[in-house]
Amino acid sequence: MSAPSAHRRHSDDHDHGHDHGHGAPESPSHARPVPDVLDLLRAPSTVRMVDLDPDATPGYPGKDKLDAPALTAELAPTLSGWQEKLYAENTQPDTPARNLLVVLQGMDTSGKGGIISHVFGLVDPQGLHVHAFKEPTPEELSHDFLWRIRNQVPGRGMIGIFDRSQYEDVLVVRVDELVGPEVWEQRFDQINDFEADLVASGTRIVKCFLNISPDVQERRLLERLNNPSKYWKYSTSDVKTRRRWHDYMGAYEDVLNRCNTEVAPWYVIPSNHKWYRNWAVATLLMEHLRQMAPQWPAPTFTVEDEIAAVKASLPEC
Ligand code: AMP
Ligand code: MG
Repeated sequence: MSAPSAHRRHSDDHDHGHDHGHGAPESPSHARPVPDVLDLLRAPSTVRMVDLDPDATPGYPGKDKLDAPALTAELAPTLSGWQEKLYAENTQPDTPARNLLVVLQGMDTSGKGGIISHVFGLVDPQGLHVHAFKEPTPEELSHDFLWRIRNQVPGRGMIGIFDRSQYEDVLVVRVDELVGPEVWEQRFDQINDFEADLVASGTRIVKCFLNISPDVQERRLLERLNNPSKYWKYSTSDVKTRRRWHDYMGAYEDVLNRCNTEVAPWYVIPSNHKWYRNWAVATLLMEHLRQMAPQWPAPTFTVEDEIAAVKASLPEC
């Protein structure tokens, strides 16, 4: 049983048993204790959207927004250290494959793109596989809805980031009635099965719902329309989606209630404050990597012999 989460408007149940196993043998750099964001941000077993406060800042160790850039930047060496170890460990074909998949979902302007640049920008891009899922192409539509998702699952040692995901097929597809309930209803179980298979084959899945309020969305959409360098981020269909806000919240509520499994948990990231959102996702990512505790691989050669060989070898003319 964990502490009650600060970002819920009312107290509610929160009974996920959770592995606190911060069992990494060592952290690649500094050891500043981080609050238990895994518990604080984990979606409760029963979610009511109205109970979630998008303005909250659970676990934030700073005083205010001014502290956030430094606090987030401070995580960079630890994060990139773990990421490099995960990559290195997986260069050895005889170790079991492992990787990490971060799923980002949220309404327009909730910060999916911002997280990719501000949080994942802290680690080596060679270890990242980023994919944004748009409206399906005719080819994608000719397959089952998980086909395009499977094609983007990160390879061993990689951190995958999905900007939108399989969940669009129970969100926009449901709200816009692109298929009937007899089709989308089955998808919750199909997604859970798919994710459980991925986890069984070595993927750690971290799903983040970026929770913003409609007034913050309005402000951010208007900012896009007030700035020629942001026009490209705006789509005329954003208004159509915004009008259906409450239907989307209902659909998100079902996603959080039906697909919040122990193996592939949902986290609710209060995202009205960009500075908190970035810090929270960076911390969540770091804690998951710490739990995975990737290891430097042992050499596949005798180090002393190779040192001697390098010293004794001269390039031939
Ligand atoms: P954006 O992420 O803002 O670039 O927009 C991508 C658009 O593609 C959003 O309006 C999504 O709702 C839409 N989209 C993503 N996946 C699907 C899907 N499976 N079916 C229909 N629309 C989708
Ligand atoms: Mg958009």
